[in-house]
Amino acid sequence: MVQVPIVRDILSANERIAEENRRLLEMHRVCAVNIMASPGAGKTSLILRTIEAAGEGLRVGVIEGDIASRVDADKVAAAGAPVVQINTGGTCHLDAPMVRAALEQLPLGEIDLLFVENVGNLICPVEFGLGEAARVLVSSVPEGDDKPYKYPGIFAAVDAVVLNKTDLAPYVPFDRAAFRRLIAGINPTAAFFELSCATGEGMAAWAAWLKALLGRVRGTA
Ligand code: MG
Ligand code: ZN
Repeated sequence: MVQVPIVRDILSANERIAEENRRLLEMHRVCAVNIMASPGAGKTSLILRTIEAAGEGLRVGVIEGDIASRVDADKVAAAGAPVVQINTGGTCHLDAPMVRAALEQLPLGEIDLLFVENVGNLICPVEFGLGEAARVLVSSVPEGDDKPYKYPGIFAAVDAVVLNKTDLAPYVPFDRAAFRRLIAGINPTAAFFELSCATGEGMAAWAAWLKALLGRVRGTA
């Protein structure tokens, strides 16, 4: 009886701060993208590949969310992008106050596109708005084509699905047509990209979508 109102209070407090984050990002004309996935799907690899593909024209910043460690932030820093690591200390998702603290440490005036790499988890990250302009789910071929069946909530709530590790398709069973049909049933308007961060195949369409998103956020598209 008591639990439901408490959970609602936490979520609405989170949404208030998410709204403040959104205004802060808008003020600096930063387009934030919340990247969600299970552990090992390739969130950091996708961010690194995108920094590489973006070149000089698109300034990328990153907030790295992990339960512990800063290995991912170190990789992003080595790629030359401004990055802040959030260690959640066990919490299995990012929330808006964590992101606000990270935003205060980033040079927002020098960032066009801000990736927020969420904690690897397909369940609760989607419940917590961060103030982002778009949500992206990264899935990968070795995880299997039944993920949308098992985690429909997150597949339904994202603006785009990226299927990573297509280079492994010859070696593991994965029915791409079935995977796409499942997503189309759950979320017919989601953009869909197939790519390989290992080979770089398919990166161009993803990068073009991000540029178009940035244009929409800035009102120039
Ligand atoms: Mg990572
Ligand atoms: Zn969680």
